Amino acid sequence: MKKIAILGSTGSIGTQTLSIVDENPDLCVTALSCGKNIELLKQQIKKYKPHLVSVSDEEDAKKLIDSLKDTDVRVVYGMDGLIEVATDEEADMVVTAIVGMVGIRPTIAAIQAKKDIALANKETLVTAGHLIMPMAKEYGVKILPVDSEHSAIFQSLQGNPQKAVEKILLTASGGPFRGKTYEELEHVTVEDALKHPNWSMGKKITIDSATMVNKGLEVMEAKWLFDIPISRIQVTVHPQSILHSAVEYKDGAIIGQMGTPDMRLPILYALFYPERRSLSGEKLDLFDLGQLTFEKPDFETFFGLQLAFDAANAGGNMPTVYNAANERAVALFLDKKIRFLEIPELIASSMSEVDYIKDPSLEDILQTEQMTYDFINRLKS
Ligand code: NDP
Repeated sequence: MKKIAILGSTGSIGTQTLSIVDENPDLCVTALSCGKNIELLKQQIKKYKPHLVSVSDEEDAKKLIDSLKDTDVRVVYGMDGLIEVATDEEADMVVTAIVGMVGIRPTIAAIQAKKDIALANKETLVTAGHLIMPMAKEYGVKILPVDSEHSAIFQSLQGNPQKAVEKILLTASGGPFRGKTYEELEHVTVEDALKHPNWSMGKKITIDSATMVNKGLEVMEAKWLFDIPISRIQVTVHPQSILHSAVEYKDGAIIGQMGTPDMRLPILYALFYPERRSLSGEKLDLFDLGQLTFEKPDFETFFGLQLAFDAANAGGNMPTVYNAANERAVALFLDKKIRFLEIPELIASSMSEVDYIKDPSLEDILQTEQMTYDFINRLKS
């Protein structure tokens, strides 16, 4: 039996992880966490019988304790609750399917408790990769990518020496606004931005895909996961989302991973690595595919992507400023308080405003996050 704890079990990655549990009887769930979706959590508790669950708010926790009084399930809440789930003694592996920088401290705690990590929560590596990757090495913990592009890169690296890698080809669908001009993005609505052409995902990452900030975050995630300089990561727009990413080797060979756009595959691969298991559902049919196309990204229209390269090249706490500004701006956009194009604008102004720290500690990162939020709150209040 492989025992897993899931941070963010009620979200898109969390629920798909549980569907993998349904198909693999030698997987079991020891602990779950959610934010606000208590009804779905209750159904998950009934079905998967974890011994520990965490919710965001104390009030929700009290109500849940009451409704679970005839069971042995322990209910915890807040950041302490997330950390308890991440360090659950019974779990072998933690799936970090929570969204945003709130994942940093639980991920660090899980590593210190020697849990392998199936990592979906890219914001954690973007902001604290310089702390997390050495720590994983020190504790002998595996960080297995769940993001489809990073899983594809990871799969394409198997059996080949790192020193033979020339560059990483990170594919991007281009999102719902591929091919549009900057002016055409002036009046796009939340509903337009939430219509991703290929993937069904949580709201935040769907907006990040529309701005291409998601690809920027993935560039930084790839840098940490694969220990490769930013200058050797090439973003390639591939609208069909079939080639999930590739590695170009020094001899000119390009090795990539293709498949239908289905997040269950990278989740399954992370959970059972290095084993490859069967997966239900449609398989890719090359005869049906027709064509695969590739384009250069439009860094001017999607200047949030350019800003990611700027932040990554600046290093220090700039990726944190980039990420925190984006998190706050996306929340404001989803609340219809700002326009779509204000998302990259707010990232850019935050990057000019917040003080640079060269080698930030965890405290510096959390402080930078707060300073960025405060700056945007002042601008937008
Ligand atoms: P969702 O928004 O669908 O789910 C997020 C999960 O985190 C939910 O369970 C939510 O709980 C929980 N959560 C949110 N905020 C808090 C909080 N403050 N405290 C505790 N729990 C919280 O996100 P996704 O599943 O789409 O994405 C999760 C991560 O995976 C992100 O980092 C994303 O970038 C990454 N990712 C996602 C992909 C996808 O296909 N969805 C693909 C690749 C990467 P609740 O809903 O109960 O409030």
